[in-house]
Amino acid sequence: MNRGLGSWPARRAAISPDRVALVFGDDSWTYAELRDRVTRLAHRLRAEGVGRGDRVAYLGPNHPALVETLFATHLLGGVFVPLNFRLTAPEVRYQLGHSGARVLIRDPECAEAKAPTTIPVTALTETSAETGPPIEVEVGLDDPAFLLYTSGTTGRPKGAILTHGNVVWNTYNLLVGVDVAGDEVTLIGAPLFHVAALNQCLLPTVLKGGRSVIMPSWNVDQALDLIERHRVTWMFGVAAMFAALARSPRWASTDLSSLRCVMSGGAAVPPALIRAYQERGLTFCQGYGMTETAPGATFLEARESLSHVGSAGVPVFFTDVRCVRPDLTDAAPGEPGEVLVRGPNVTPGYWEDPAATADAFADGWLRTGDIAAVGEDGHFRILDRLKDMYISGGENVYPAEVEAALFTHPGVAEVAVIGVPDEKWGEAGRAFIVPAAGHRPTAGELREHLAGRLAKYKIPAHFTIVDDLPKTGSNKVRKADLRSRPL
Ligand code: ATP
Ligand code: MG
Repeated sequence: MNRGLGSWPARRAAISPDRVALVFGDDSWTYAELRDRVTRLAHRLRAEGVGRGDRVAYLGPNHPALVETLFATHLLGGVFVPLNFRLTAPEVRYQLGHSGARVLIRDPECAEAKAPTTIPVTALTETSAETGPPIEVEVGLDDPAFLLYTSGTTGRPKGAILTHGNVVWNTYNLLVGVDVAGDEVTLIGAPLFHVAALNQCLLPTVLKGGRSVIMPSWNVDQALDLIERHRVTWMFGVAAMFAALARSPRWASTDLSSLRCVMSGGAAVPPALIRAYQERGLTFCQGYGMTETAPGATFLEARESLSHVGSAGVPVFFTDVRCVRPDLTDAAPGEPGEVLVRGPNVTPGYWEDPAATADAFADGWLRTGDIAAVGEDGHFRILDRLKDMYISGGENVYPAEVEAALFTHPGVAEVAVIGVPDEKWGEAGRAFIVPAAGHRPTAGELREHLAGRLAKYKIPAHFTIVDDLPKTGSNKVRKADLRSRPL
């Protein structure tokens, strides 16, 4: 019996064959069509030698072929490895080599130089029109489903294994917090090679029989068009995407009334941005998680988004999350500590990397490398990454807090703060600012803006205006690049 994700299209089609599963441009596929396409592709992959445990990689922007490859791989008991197409050729080759992929499916948009192709996406349509007999492979919930490379925000991406069970439990955790309905229209604007778009958007929508509107890549105008055209009810994004939508000149004139809920994760959301959405009457939920937890770890329910602005919520239903001191004892309420996670959605470890796996766990808990403070009410406030925190004059500074304060200045479009060596204070802050259109804020103005908002030791010593910030494929600032940047 196939208990894994590969059985989902057929199980869904048995319930609602005629409901639309995927929309891409002017094309759409029902669940019955998705099931048949997946079965056909699985026969094709089997002919390429793919069987249980084999890795199948996919390189390309969001496309229905990625979704079909995912389910076809899982139907055969294989492991799906979606690669970040924005990586350089050596980075892609490293991940392909490391994953030991048997087959790579590559979108023609990605240069051949990035990776030798086994099957180009265009060839998938040439797959025989016959569906072929049903495929029966034994797949259990403990079998690996995904090999997902982390964003690489803090260093080289790590290959996290997620089992079918990890993903199923994450979906349950999500469904406890969000009322994903059968008539959901989900906008998938975040990249599908990343855990959030896969496991927080696509798979819960398929499970419930909703409709996923897939964007090839994130584009503000297109997103606003699609929300209106398809009456989108739900979308996931990172703060940068929501900020770009709210800054659009079309923001005020677009009909957003169909949106039941927008959900953000992956990075802290400045409270000012949450308020901008609330002022439009939109429900803004926030979650905290990571690739290794498939990804949800904490979740802030929509009804609390007004009363708990800035909180990343409480642990998701089936998962334990706590904050600890360096000796692994529990931090007191309000005391910053490292976040540990334990539960059925937590990765069994990193692919062929026992040393990294051993480092990542303590007493069966995953060490996240993030710092948070838990309030008396059990709410988690994510402060920053351990690696990004710096100490100025003996005081801990969490750059995320400084960034949120700078973000409230109208001249600031994007900002990143790092700690740099300082003779007097040990370390001091350097803020990299991307100015908003038509603005060029001076260091004096910015300092003055922060003076009433932050304690003196948190105010950066240096301000550097830049055109853009180095980002990962999931749109997070690569602070390591900023730290090594010559000034
Ligand atoms: P790498 O592990 O390769 O350095 P990464 O940690 O950025 O990259 P992801 O798994 O995509 O890779 O991101 C998870 C991280 O994102 C978390 O560990 C945390 O630092 C950050 N994060 C996620 N959600 C939130 C949130 N709501 N608030 C603040 N930070 C968040
Ligand atoms: Mg990480």
